[in-house]
Amino acid sequence: MSSSSYSRSGSSTSASGVSVKSSPDDQTRINDADGSGRSIRLAVFDLDYTIWQPEMYQLYGNPRLVKAEGHKLSAIEKHETRTTEEDKIITDKSGTPIRVFSGASYALADIHRLREEGYEIQAAVASRTDEPDWAFFCMRHLAVKVQGRKGGNAQELITLLDCFGSGSMKKNPLIQISYQDKTHHFKRLHQATGIPYEDMVFFDNENWNIRSVSKLGVKCIYTPDGMQKKHWDQAKKAFGMECA
Ligand SMILES: [Mg+2]
Repeated sequence: MSSSSYSRSGSSTSASGVSVKSSPDDQTRINDADGSGRSIRLAVFDLDYTIWQPEMYQLYGNPRLVKAEGHKLSAIEKHETRTTEEDKIITDKSGTPIRVFSGASYALADIHRLREEGYEIQAAVASRTDEPDWAFFCMRHLAVKVQGRKGGNAQELITLLDCFGSGSMKKNPLIQISYQDKTHHFKRLHQATGIPYEDMVFFDNENWNIRSVSKLGVKCIYTPDGMQKKHWDQAKKAFGMECA
């Protein structure tokens, strides 16, 4: 995909690692393909059944790292269950693996690549999951394969937590988990980053969250069967950005 419709980062970074708003004068917008003058600056993801499956409430006991051997995983499932621990996956007590949807990995790797190239885009979480501690455990270990450091061809594994910014886990303002209506999550994301709602995109498998957050002016994309590549492409197209 072309990165030509993104703005180069002119933002500063707070102590928590969150990029804060920069003025339009600080940015160079190139090739405003959709004519709106906007690009995706914050991509926000629901967790349960958007980033991963099964949902945390469906787990039998807390998630734990276990040896992958002994689990009959297809080639696709091996990718979806990848963690940063070699030959280990996360399962619940009954042995059900936690799997990251391939489209979620695709989108997060694309965002990582754009950031490495200097473009101003961040990924964040808006979740109402019943088990935030379990969700943090999964984010600390489940991995996404990304391009290595600028100039290198090697790929590396980073955790989902790495994808959602640095900073200490529960103080990271880019990870909003609470049982409120998701408009509250977005208000906090907006306050923390200064990013206008119109520069955000949101992915969720629950239509009522989509309807609620849409009212803020956030571009919302319904992912009823989990995050797929087509959803990330749809988001980019909505902002006039070319897709791979
Ligand atoms: Mg969900």
